[in-house]
Amino acid sequence: MIPYRPEPLTDFHNPANQEAFAAALAKVEQELGRTYPLIIGGKRVDTGRYIESINPSKKAEVIGRVAMAGQDEIERALEAAWEAYRTWSRMPVIERAALLFKTAAIIRRRKHEFSAWMLLEAGKSRAEADADTAEAIDFLEYYGRQMIDLARRADDLLTPISGEDNHIEYIPLGVGAIIPPWNFPLAIVTGMTVSAVVAGNTVLLKPAIQTPVIAYKLMEALEEAGMPPGVVNFVPGDPAEMGDFMVGHKDVRFISFTGSKQVGLHLNELAAKRIPGQRWIKRFIAEMGGKDAIVVDEGYDVQAAAQIIAQSAFGFSGQKCSACSRVIAHESLYDELVDRVAEIAKAFKVGDVRDASVGTGPVVDQKAFEKVTTYIEIGRGEGRLVAGGTASNETGFFIQPTVFADVKPDARIMQEEIFGPVVAITKVKSFEEAIDVANGTDFGLTGSVLSTNREHLAYARHHFHVGNLYFNRKCTGAIVGVHPFGGFNMSGTDSKAGGPDYLLLFTQMKSVSELL
Ligand code: GLU
Repeated sequence: MIPYRPEPLTDFHNPANQEAFAAALAKVEQELGRTYPLIIGGKRVDTGRYIESINPSKKAEVIGRVAMAGQDEIERALEAAWEAYRTWSRMPVIERAALLFKTAAIIRRRKHEFSAWMLLEAGKSRAEADADTAEAIDFLEYYGRQMIDLARRADDLLTPISGEDNHIEYIPLGVGAIIPPWNFPLAIVTGMTVSAVVAGNTVLLKPAIQTPVIAYKLMEALEEAGMPPGVVNFVPGDPAEMGDFMVGHKDVRFISFTGSKQVGLHLNELAAKRIPGQRWIKRFIAEMGGKDAIVVDEGYDVQAAAQIIAQSAFGFSGQKCSACSRVIAHESLYDELVDRVAEIAKAFKVGDVRDASVGTGPVVDQKAFEKVTTYIEIGRGEGRLVAGGTASNETGFFIQPTVFADVKPDARIMQEEIFGPVVAITKVKSFEEAIDVANGTDFGLTGSVLSTNREHLAYARHHFHVGNLYFNRKCTGAIVGVHPFGGFNMSGTDSKAGGPDYLLLFTQMKSVSELL
């Protein structure tokens, strides 16, 4: 088999690619406002109650109406998933992997169309959406190959002894609840779904209420690739009404969640409680928040540092759990760095991402808008505003990249996840102090160190406690198979999506021994 290689990104300097993308966007715009059903056991189910998905750049524009599942539909979906599990779990690994490879081919052929849906439904710029689609393809190609390797390697891991024939096998767990976020509405939805499925599990997929249409598009691609009914059941809905019910249900074997710390901890508690009739300890896999820091060491090129910070903090309006929200700068370059970051932040063009010259788009919805602007108000009392601070939700949810300087490490905007284009800068006297400050939150997801001092980099390698540590580059943009992604402490269970151990989370090892 051809080895896995990350999918190349589209070069939008090339006019042919610009045209192809514009054509896909025009096609998708013709399809806005449609109604989408649930999919349970391969059947379309319309519940008559809908999530209205809107364009965050232009909130009057409805992307689609997606049926909402209630508790009855969850019961039916669980039945359908367990029914499908009987055959899917026994299907040869190579056939399950082939489903992923076919889905990758379908998405690759229509990649601009998938990206256009994200541009409109999530407010991603053309380039960010293109990277999201490429990452979805990567997850399909990577996990397909990983599962084939896992099945093959199993017996080589054992120590042979005479007189016995011994084998191990990684068997699936059962039916899982997949609860992905809206911020990578194709990539993470795809990765979380197909990892569980290629390992032989069947699932209930509850997409985020902000981005259910693009998740439905993934369902269509999986079906087109030949996914049997009941393997992935599409059940969007209100988290309070059916999300908790699903996670707490006795027939759910595992939960794979990506989202906020607050929701993750809540679901973990629900999952831990044994329900009468429940025959297993549910497995809980969580990717939660971050409060990611970039440390700028003495002697580093200030202009380069400012660029790296702006890219990490303001790309997709800071709506990544990997986004930089804290800068910890050495006093020798602090003032100059604050000025440079502020300058770049002020120059950012914010607006409707249909305009290709826009630097960053909106935040995802009214709730996000309120949360981020509330933190901006808190920031005014905790630091010196040097850029941004303005916002408007008249037509879409736009927030100008915002920079606060002179913020104390224990300030709320230095401790709490904001999930918006807001960065706080603090000053330190030494590199050791910088790493202490960097480690001084509940989180431990990503972090960057910008330094030309090899001893300092070696010190950071040992002491900077984050799941994804980057040197002299941005702290966002992990690539599948290249940078396994996941964090420590309150950032989650360090599941390392896109890494060589990820599929083990969706399997259990069976050991079979025969006396000869
Ligand atoms: N994997 C993404 C990155 O490295 C972040 C994922 C997330 O925000 O959930 O930027």
